[in-house]
Amino acid sequence: MNFELSSENIQVKNMARAIAEKEILANVKYFEQERKFPKEILQKMGAAGIFGACFPEKYGGSEMGFLNLAIIAEEISKAHPSFGYAFNMQAMTCPFTILNWGTEEQIQKYVPDLIKANLIGMFALTESGGGSDPAGSMKTYARLEGDEYVINGSKTWITFANEADVGVLFAKTDLKAGHKGISAFIVETNRPGFTAKPIEISSLGFMMRSCEVFLEDYRIPKENLLGKEGEGFKIAMNALDYGRLTVSSRLVGIAQGCVDESIKYCNERIVGGNPIGEYQMIKHLIADMVVETDAARLQTYRSAYLKDKGETATRESSYAKYFASEVAAKVSRNALEIFGGNGISDEYPIMKYVNYANMLHFGEGSANIQRILIANDALGIKNANRHHIERRFALSSDIRDGKKAESING
Ligand SMILES: Cc1cc2nc3c(=O)[nH]c(=O)nc-3n(C[C@H](O)[C@H](O)[C@H](O)COP(=O)(O)OP(=O)(O)OC[C@H]3O[C@@H](n4cnc5c(N)ncnc54)[C@H](O)[C@@H]3O)c2cc1C
Repeated sequence: MNFELSSENIQVKNMARAIAEKEILANVKYFEQERKFPKEILQKMGAAGIFGACFPEKYGGSEMGFLNLAIIAEEISKAHPSFGYAFNMQAMTCPFTILNWGTEEQIQKYVPDLIKANLIGMFALTESGGGSDPAGSMKTYARLEGDEYVINGSKTWITFANEADVGVLFAKTDLKAGHKGISAFIVETNRPGFTAKPIEISSLGFMMRSCEVFLEDYRIPKENLLGKEGEGFKIAMNALDYGRLTVSSRLVGIAQGCVDESIKYCNERIVGGNPIGEYQMIKHLIADMVVETDAARLQTYRSAYLKDKGETATRESSYAKYFASEVAAKVSRNALEIFGGNGISDEYPIMKYVNYANMLHFGEGSANIQRILIANDALGIKNANRHHIERRFALSSDIRDGKKAESING
C-alpha cells in the first residue's frame, strides 16, 4: 500500500492550483459582485484538460483518471467552492453519464464539447416531492408521439439549468411501473417548451444558480433517449455513484481551505498580547481540523484509486461522501470559531466555506441517506421490506456492461 502521490499527481495538483490562482482567485470579487456565470473560465479549465480527466482521448479527454480528478476538484473547490459545481456538470453527471450510456453518435455529438465547456451541462433528476425519493416523487412524464417524445413536468434545484445548453433529464415513460418506468433523455435547452427559473439564494458568495425547470409540451427526437426505455433509474443511480466521488473531493477542498486560512489567521491575529494560535483551546480546534481533513482525503483517494482500478467502489464512495460532508461541516464551523467576528466578513472566505459545506451535505444523497446505506451494508441487510430510498441506492452500482458489481446493499 502506497500513500504517496506520484510525481504525475503532484504535477496535476500544481497545475490545478495555478489555474485556480490565475483564473478563479484573481477574478472572484468580480464574479461575486456581478453574479455572472464564468463560462470563459470554465472553458479555460476545459482547455487544460481538467473536466476531461476521466474521458478517452478519442473524445477529447485527457485520460488522467479518477485520482487526478479528485486532486483537481479539491484544489478548485478550495479556491472557490462554487466552481466545484462545474465538476459535476462538465466532468461527471452530465458528460460521464452520456459516455457510459450513450450511443456512439450521442457521445460524439455532446461529450467533446461538454468536457471543453463549449457546451454547459446539467443533470435534472430532483423534483419538488423530495430529492431523497426521486422515483416516488417523479411526476414528469414523457410520451412517445411519432418520432418524438413530448415531455411535461418540472424539476427543482437543477444546477446551471439557466445557463445549460444540454442535459440529462429523467422522466417517467410508464406511470405504472414504479422506478422501472423511468427513462433518461438528452435534452437541448434551446427547444420550445423548456424554461429555467433561478432559485433566489442570498447566501454569501453563491454565484452559480440552481433552478426550477419547467417542461411544457417540450419535444425531442426519439433518438435523444439515453439507454433504453425503463433504464433511467439505473442510469441515475450509476451517475450519482460517480458524482459522490467529485462531491467528496470538493468537500475535502473546502475543509483544507478552512485549515489553511485558519492556520494563517492563528499566527497573525493577536488577542490579549498573544497570537491566538498559542491558546490551548484554539490548538485543540486546529488539531481536530488537520486530522479530520486528512482522514476525509484518504477516504476520498481510496474511492478514486478503486475506480481507477476499474472497480465501482460504491461502498467506499458512500463512506467518503458521508465522512467528508461531516468533516467539512465541522471544520468550517471550527474555522468560524477561530475567526470570531471576522469570519463573517467578506474579507475572508470562511462563511463561503460554511455555506457550501452545509449545502453539499445534500448533494448525491444526503447524509441520512448515506447513513442508511452504510448501516444496511454493515448489518448485512440485503432484501426484504426495504424503504424505496434504499432500493434507489441498491441499484447504484449497476454498470453499463451489465456486470453487477459490489453493491452497498449487497
Ligand atoms: C445547491 C444545490 C444544487 C443541487 N443541484 C442539483 C442538480 O443539479 N440536479 C438535481 O437533480 N438535483 C440537485 N439538487 C437537489 C439535491 O440532490 C437534493 O436537495 C437532495 O437529493 C435532497 O433532496 P431534498 O432537498 O428534496 O430533501 P428531502 O428529500 O426533502 O429530505 C429532507 C431531509 O429529510 C431526510 N430524509 C428524507 N428521507 C429520509 C429517510 N427515509 N430517512 C431518513 N432521513 C430522510 C434527508 O436526509 C434530508 O435531511 C441540488 C440541491 C442543492 C441544495
